[in-house]
Amino acid sequence: MKQNKPFLSFFLILLICLSNIFFILNLKPITKVQATEIYDGEVKNIFIHSLIAYPEILDTKSKYIIKKYDIDCIDYIEFNNMLNELYKNDYVLIDINNTFNVNENGIAIKNKIKVPKGKKPLVLGIDDVVYDPSKSGNGMVDKICVDKKGNLYTETIIDNKKEISYNREFAPILENFVKVHPDFSYNSAKCCINLTGFCGILGYRISDKNDSFRNKEINDCKKVVNRLKELGYTFACHSYSHYHIKKTCVENVKQDLQDWKDYIEPVIGKTNIFVYPYGEWEIINGDKLSQKQQALCDYGFKLFLGVGIYDFFTQMPLNSNMKQKILFADRKNIDGYTLFNRQEELKKMFDPIKVLSKYSIERHKLK
Ligand SMILES: [Zn+2]
Repeated sequence: MKQNKPFLSFFLILLICLSNIFFILNLKPITKVQATEIYDGEVKNIFIHSLIAYPEILDTKSKYIIKKYDIDCIDYIEFNNMLNELYKNDYVLIDINNTFNVNENGIAIKNKIKVPKGKKPLVLGIDDVVYDPSKSGNGMVDKICVDKKGNLYTETIIDNKKEISYNREFAPILENFVKVHPDFSYNSAKCCINLTGFCGILGYRISDKNDSFRNKEINDCKKVVNRLKELGYTFACHSYSHYHIKKTCVENVKQDLQDWKDYIEPVIGKTNIFVYPYGEWEIINGDKLSQKQQALCDYGFKLFLGVGIYDFFTQMPLNSNMKQKILFADRKNIDGYTLFNRQEELKKMFDPIKVLSKYSIERHKLK
């Protein structure tokens, strides 16, 4: 008996180990390593503004307000439709920060883009995302929030009551979509939120001059910002005051950067991406960088984004021997105007006819 004991314990341990291995193999899904490849084509770079979350409310407003929102924005139905179409056409969301690298000399250079085999990379941007209280009640949400479970939702005051929604603004919609189609997001990338600061961000009045009010807004806002970052959202600077760069002076550009540093950067962190307001830029003056562009470069921005209908990712200025060039990319605006008027160009990515909502089509008929 004595001699059998070690053998019995060894046998028992072996049995426990084997059963554990089978248990793990049976219950744990075998994670497939995703095959990736270098993508040589143009990286599509598109942006929208905050969505028309309640088109039924917008349609009760004046012709002037309807036209403004209709030209600049798409609604929540169209955003859902667009995601579906892009997904069907094999696009995958990538992080814009992975499209470039900064070398040891501080120069930004374009990266080789990797995507899962058979997929096409897509950079998605959302511009402004202010929720200016003076425009509240026109059909956009009032703020983005996060619930106790970490889910994103929006709050909107409608008829003096607080309406809560999990499917009317870009972030909650994107979260719902990626839950169903996880392969629409490469390495958890979602989109880049290109913020201004003059009226706070994401519906929080973090630029308010009243400090006691501002501190509470900052605390609430940080919770949302941190959750967005955890979920794969990134942030870029779209200027503090949304100026016209050609009409403003160097001093204003510098003050604008200071305001960004004082009010917005402490909440969202540093970014080295600058999104030109209105897509306007003034890169050179004669044969050197303009003072305004130099101020932006001195601040630490490395990638500069404009607006244009062509695929474009290059060193600016073009056709110049200038030593100090800047990395520049154009973005396509997806809005009520381009969905109707740039259909041929958009068809290279998705069929705009399949994206349009009944609200947009009705408004278009009334024109
Ligand atoms: Zn803008």
